[in-house]
Amino acid sequence: MTQKFDVVVIGGGPGGYVAAIKAAQLGLKTACIEKYQSKDGKVALGGTCLNVGCIPSKALLDSSFKFHEAQEGFKIHGIEVKGVSMDVPAMVSRKDGIVKNLTGGVSALFKANGVTLVEGHGKLLANKQVEVTGLDGAVKVLEAENVIIASGSRPIEIPPAPLTEDIIVDSTGALDFQSVPKKLGVIGAGVIGLELGSVWARLGAEVTVLEAQEKFLPTADEQIAKEALKILTKQGLKIRLGARVTGSEVKRKQVTVSFTDAEGEQKQVFDKLIVAVGRRPVTTDLLAADSGVDMDERGFIFVDDHCATSVPGVYAVGDVVRGPMLAHKASEEGVMVAERIAGHKAQINYDLIPGVIYTHPEIAWVGKTEQALKAEGVEINVGTFPFAASGRAMAANDTAGLVKVIADAKTDRVLGVHVIGPAAAELVQQGVIGMEFGTSAEDLGMMVFSHPTMSEALHEAALAVNGHAIHVANRKKR
Ligand code: FAD
Ligand code: AMP
Repeated sequence: MTQKFDVVVIGGGPGGYVAAIKAAQLGLKTACIEKYQSKDGKVALGGTCLNVGCIPSKALLDSSFKFHEAQEGFKIHGIEVKGVSMDVPAMVSRKDGIVKNLTGGVSALFKANGVTLVEGHGKLLANKQVEVTGLDGAVKVLEAENVIIASGSRPIEIPPAPLTEDIIVDSTGALDFQSVPKKLGVIGAGVIGLELGSVWARLGAEVTVLEAQEKFLPTADEQIAKEALKILTKQGLKIRLGARVTGSEVKRKQVTVSFTDAEGEQKQVFDKLIVAVGRRPVTTDLLAADSGVDMDERGFIFVDDHCATSVPGVYAVGDVVRGPMLAHKASEEGVMVAERIAGHKAQINYDLIPGVIYTHPEIAWVGKTEQALKAEGVEINVGTFPFAASGRAMAANDTAGLVKVIADAKTDRVLGVHVIGPAAAELVQQGVIGMEFGTSAEDLGMMVFSHPTMSEALHEAALAVNGHAIHVANRKKR
């Protein structure tokens, strides 16, 4: 007998599992289809983010940061430590434990909320029917009033650097190295390349990042990107811009990478190579020819501002649709769609989705960059505050970076908050809250910030927008 649901979700990542939980909470009979099998062979919820993305990468970033601090950061505090060493397999298995804990937690939430987990591969047929091929090959069909596609994304592979078992790897492979490579190459200076490059550099690898574009972090605010390049280079990451990888050859446990840069053809030998050149939407065997769902020219499922596809009652959320490939964007889309199915008028403010790069210092932002606003002809005032002038940052010996607040020159409304520095992600979140409520720089400046905190840097940058900073000399108005 065909099972019937109010909502069938294809994919159990942050887009899909959050949509499923929300739909169930709203009283809808909900199923979620997931096929991903973790290392123990069992189906695991959580998608890329929990299994091989956000969470495991942050676990390794935190472990490697502690190791690096013990080696290089403690001394200035008067702490002598000798014989500090890193047990890489122990670090990796701690990471695996966190993943297991969290993915198991999502399964428990499914049970608590009454979401039916259907294990297998889901495919959308015509008339909102969803075919599920179980892990044992058995096929069944679910009927749905509404379908939410949340099939996510996977790493892009490039012909010059095909993956191998253990030398040329993608981001997933780079989370499982069992020892520190002496020389590590990374293709792509995007978020993932910089985070994973940082992990292994902190543990002692000599890391070279090869980036085809001439511009570093082109979507970030230029001032912040410039500062980031300076700081990361000082930390030892060799970031080669304008270096396009053209080939690779694996021989005797090493890989020789060919690339072209301004000086012509180059070659460099690495013990491991991480390919981090971006991600593509997953739509393989997802849509039957007569499903009616359209894709855009780049292979993303085509949706409107409310994540509705070209078929009424079929929605798509997360990495498989337009917009930044971020877990929080996927989840908020999941919530919005579940609420709309339940008859609410939910929407998302796509202008205020924060982005974070979890290097140290972190790089984070929300809203528009100075260069984008200038290109649009918007008159702006800019306030900055360096962490070098923050008492809290000095106490923590963590003074690299700055906070930048950009406001409309006419209305003083904050249009962008950009931070490189300690706790940047948390500081930018304060910007998100303020900007959602239409804050002006003056509003932020009038609020009371605890002393001493990193947040005071945001306060001072907001004051600096109108030349009122206290703890740094104000720029003279032109
Ligand atoms: P996914 O998480 O990819 O989930 C899709 C799920 O659908 C998968 O589990 C897949 O198995 C399943 N699926 C696909 N097709 C089918 C099918 N036909 N049938 C059944 N199941 C199917 N984002 C952040 O916001 N912060 C970070 O710090 C961050 N760090 C990252 C670090 C790394 C190394 C990587 C790779 C990504 C990181 N991301 C981060 C991005 C984040 O992981 C994604 O944006 C997020 O996981 C997208 O969620 P999603 O639900 O759209 O897709
Ligand atoms: P992101 O999409 O933010 O993860 O970044 C991926 C980066 O990889 C982009 O900045 C691309 O320019 C870069 N990239 C893609 N292909 C190559 C290549 N063949 N050689 C070097 N860099 C590349």
